[in-house]
Amino acid sequence: MKLIRFGTPGEERPGVWLESAEPEAKPMLLDIRAMAFDIEDYNEHFFAHFGLERVANLLREPGRQPLRERSEWRGKLVPAEDVRLGPPIARPGKIICLGKNYAAHAREFDAKIPESPILFSKAPTALIGPADPIILPEGVTQVDGEVELAVVIGKTARRVAKSDALNYVAGYSVLNDVTDREAQRAASQWFRGKSPDTFCPLGPFLVTRDEILDPHRLQLTSSINGRRFQDGNTADLIFNIPFLIAFISATITLQPGDVLATGTPAGIGSAHTPPVYLQSGDHIECTVESIGRQNNSVVKVMP
Ligand code: ZN
Repeated sequence: MKLIRFGTPGEERPGVWLESAEPEAKPMLLDIRAMAFDIEDYNEHFFAHFGLERVANLLREPGRQPLRERSEWRGKLVPAEDVRLGPPIARPGKIICLGKNYAAHAREFDAKIPESPILFSKAPTALIGPADPIILPEGVTQVDGEVELAVVIGKTARRVAKSDALNYVAGYSVLNDVTDREAQRAASQWFRGKSPDTFCPLGPFLVTRDEILDPHRLQLTSSINGRRFQDGNTADLIFNIPFLIAFISATITLQPGDVLATGTPAGIGSAHTPPVYLQSGDHIECTVESIGRQNNSVVKVMP
């Protein structure tokens, strides 16, 4: 399933993205709250209380009738092009990110390849949707994008074994770890440079785990104004997803809806000579194979 959230910022409703078998037909969204009023949102409660199973049951097809033509869905389908998409999960308890988890990126960043995972965090208030504007704060001029595969946790994970770790994953999404490089360099802790409002585009979809055969074989790219910057593959992660879930959950409880950003491949703008930073008027596109594509404009903060 491809879960989405749609509507105005802060008031998004949970939905499911429905593609059609016919290429000309436009994608539609199924309004989940109109089907099951007690599914308020894709939040911790949803994942903890069999929400994914409930949504899957709502979609289960009786006979051979195409999903989009089911009569009981009349009035509950919305053309996707008519609505704004928010991040596909409601505000997570934590967003845990990996620093330098691709060797080629570690080399371009500071030439030091980590021997154990470097964890940092982004504020959940930084989250925006996959086509929302990234707003450059006043006086902030050295901003970089980082395409990443995001892992969304589906159930409480505490001291989980590597062999069992993927069972704790609800699904995957695309995350752009937008970074204020100046603020990042100014302090040994990266939180401030990683967390300005709008610096965490997420989505468009939460693609459920059953649809992704191997999360360690996905191409990921970023482009600015059509020029390709990053082009990597999750096969090159230094610390893979089961290792990370085991490593983190050994001491930190992961809760349903928490987001794990697995790190970014080489090619970031700031590592170019001369460095390329995001400017007002730019468009940054981030893609992860089989997971989705986001395209965010960059704007200056309104005075
Ligand atoms: Zn990152």
